[in-house]
Amino acid sequence: MSEGPASLPTSISLPGRRRLRFAPSPTGALHIGNVRTALFNYCLAGPEGRFLLRIEDTDRERYRPESVLEYQAELRWLGLLWDEGPDMGGPCAPYVESERLPLYRKAADRLLEGGAAYPCFCSRERLEELRAAQRASGLPTRYDRRCLHLRPDEMSQLRAEGRPEVVRLRMPEGESSWNDLVLGPQRFDNAEIDDQVLLKSDGYPTYHLAHVVDDHLMGVTHVVRAVEWLPSTPKHLVLYRALGWSPPELAHVPLVLGPDRQKLAKRHGAAGVSEYREMGYLPEAVVNFLAFLGWSPGTEEEVFALPDLRSRMTFERLQSSPAVFDGQRLDYLNGVWIRRLSPGELGRRLRPFLPQASPEQLEPIAEMVRERIRRLDEVPGLVAFAWADPEPSASLLQGSLSRSAARDFLQSAVPVFQGGSAELMEALRALAGSAAASSSDGAKAEVRRLMRVVRIALTGQEVSPPLDACARLLGPQEADRRLRNALGRLQGPG
Ligand code: GLU
Repeated sequence: MSEGPASLPTSISLPGRRRLRFAPSPTGALHIGNVRTALFNYCLAGPEGRFLLRIEDTDRERYRPESVLEYQAELRWLGLLWDEGPDMGGPCAPYVESERLPLYRKAADRLLEGGAAYPCFCSRERLEELRAAQRASGLPTRYDRRCLHLRPDEMSQLRAEGRPEVVRLRMPEGESSWNDLVLGPQRFDNAEIDDQVLLKSDGYPTYHLAHVVDDHLMGVTHVVRAVEWLPSTPKHLVLYRALGWSPPELAHVPLVLGPDRQKLAKRHGAAGVSEYREMGYLPEAVVNFLAFLGWSPGTEEEVFALPDLRSRMTFERLQSSPAVFDGQRLDYLNGVWIRRLSPGELGRRLRPFLPQASPEQLEPIAEMVRERIRRLDEVPGLVAFAWADPEPSASLLQGSLSRSAARDFLQSAVPVFQGGSAELMEALRALAGSAAASSSDGAKAEVRRLMRVVRIALTGQEVSPPLDACARLLGPQEADRRLRNALGRLQGPG
């Protein structure tokens, strides 16, 4: 390979195979909008295609090194596993842009040689003044091309003075157009578009140069990204052409809006993925939910696992109108996915939420709660009684019952729990039924009052999971101890 400034490796070529990438900038938490983009790229690669992860860390001011590993952990949690990427390498390694700087320099040199780009020495202060003046006159803010026509001797002089230097794209006249796979035909007048900085004075490329070089060299066939990038796309098309490359297919996915139809933001509760995990959402539900933010299967189906999405999602069914984030729908889907897990699996997922639980307790807890929760973080509150001795007072126990009625019923209930039988609830109801038969205001209400005594004795709570499940969680000894303890409190008149 020749070693001139313009020599770049050739693009990887795998005819007929889709190659899509997720290319986050590690600048903070991985937001739900970014994950939607990752999901769409993963799915649209299809079962036969390749999904690449590339870290776009060229903005050194906003770079947060810890984000790189965090993003990978979140993507793994969601099951969005990549075939090539920073940790595992691949035919186009490295997959971290800061490790690819010579490639961008070479691309910039090729653009400079061909006249598609030019060096610019304008100081930050001058650019700020220029922008302020343009704003004051109501003009769009853009570079005024002062450095476009510098003579070689002027450039040498500026370099000799040690002036910082950037490389700018020379936006050509004419139009840029493409057929967006989501938005349809797009056309921009190049005259409206600024001469973008491509290489900064710190030697790092901007996103615009770096991702074009990488998408080309990595053989990316389809770029699926947020619609915010749409106005920059003409610059990228100019870069592809100037470098002699053909651009990939482009698909800009719509904005995600909050319920108030404003762009989704933190105040809508739209947090990073890790916060959704901590709130007890299952990755299956998050994926299922995000898929519908900009895609629809065209049928009434609403529950999709990731492999189904990967085989079903097509560009034709992506939507161009903004998607609205509906937290209730996420909760609903989470409940659906919780009930699809086996008790053993749900117990395993509950582990981080229940550090006090013993391994044997997790599955009974899962069985107890699976029909009644929509988020895993509801569970600690529901089963807190298992680890906190309720010590209910006599008056809490008896409620509106007479003390002797409460005591007699509890007394008769003790052996039922000792048996630990599978029909515990039936036995208890039968017992309550006969105790309530002579009640003046109706047996049903009395049964409720009697069952309540047992509930309070076992859990100290007015609302709890079913009593047999509570007893199973406590274990026969602890259940017996609590019942007898309560009985002790109900001794004497009252
Ligand atoms: N690094 C860019 C971002 O995080 C990637 C945009 C793209 O997909 O081209 O938004």
